[in-house]
Amino acid sequence: MNEVPVRRSVPSEESTRHFDPILRPELHELYTARAARLRELAAGHELEAYLLLAADVAQAQAQAQAQAQATVSPESRSNAVAVDPVEIARQGTWVTHLDTMLDQLIPGASPAITPHLDALRAMSTQARLDAGLALAQHQFHSVSQALAPFLWAAFSLDVALAARTVPLPVASSEESPSCPVCGSAPVASLIYKGTRQGLRYLHCSLCESQWHMVRAKCTNCADAGNLDYLSFDSTEAVVRAESCGHCHSYLKVISQEREPNAESVADDLATLVLDDAASAEGYGRTGLNPFALPDQAL
Ligand SMILES: [Zn+2]
Ligand SMILES: [Zn+2]
Repeated sequence: MNEVPVRRSVPSEESTRHFDPILRPELHELYTARAARLRELAAGHELEAYLLLAADVAQAQAQAQAQAQATVSPESRSNAVAVDPVEIARQGTWVTHLDTMLDQLIPGASPAITPHLDALRAMSTQARLDAGLALAQHQFHSVSQALAPFLWAAFSLDVALAARTVPLPVASSEESPSCPVCGSAPVASLIYKGTRQGLRYLHCSLCESQWHMVRAKCTNCADAGNLDYLSFDSTEAVVRAESCGHCHSYLKVISQEREPNAESVADDLATLVLDDAASAEGYGRTGLNPFALPDQAL
């Protein structure tokens, strides 16, 4: 009698589930949810004023998105990505988003912020284009740190709009440390709730796309053997820094399973103190937050 061999290898849940390799969240909903989450996190936070400003900027992005014409993506010169941020920066459509956002932000701005918004309003088109190009090329040191988040927000909106008009790149078999749509760095990775329960996606800092990556492997070097998770509260923390002993980098993991309202940009920004702890332990940050841009070239 022939016995049927017992299969020992049980496929992991992730490998047997259907999932979309790339997601492009609806922008108005995303910006509105981000603004709401920033306001929620701001209450009693030591960075309260800045989190509230970031919420206003996200809300202004939602407004500018509603008024934006369908953006035609300039042809990408790179074969590696679907949209080319440098070409979009050069094209310059994004400066109209900046004006729309300033219209939103200036009337309610605090006295501390008004001079920066006035400076942005007074910038020549050429100066704005130069600054946008510098941000697209990660030349952060050449843009005023006080102005960079507003410029990035307007530029990012244009790249995000373009990212939603192009065909999705064919997913490669290798999961990428940078965005497969625009090539930018992730903000953080997000563990989904709901129909994508438990799946991990990295959230792009520029085009607001998300790409799938299996959990429990380094998002930077793909090593799975030397991961550690830093957090302050407990092992059940909403935000943890996933650090890799192989490449000595870290990226935060933000869990919607633990906090349904959690949002990558907002929850990353509200936990900068965790970055201090991770860097004190010798790990380098691979994430990029639009409201905490580095002051030097990457
Ligand atoms: Zn992207
Ligand atoms: Zn690594």
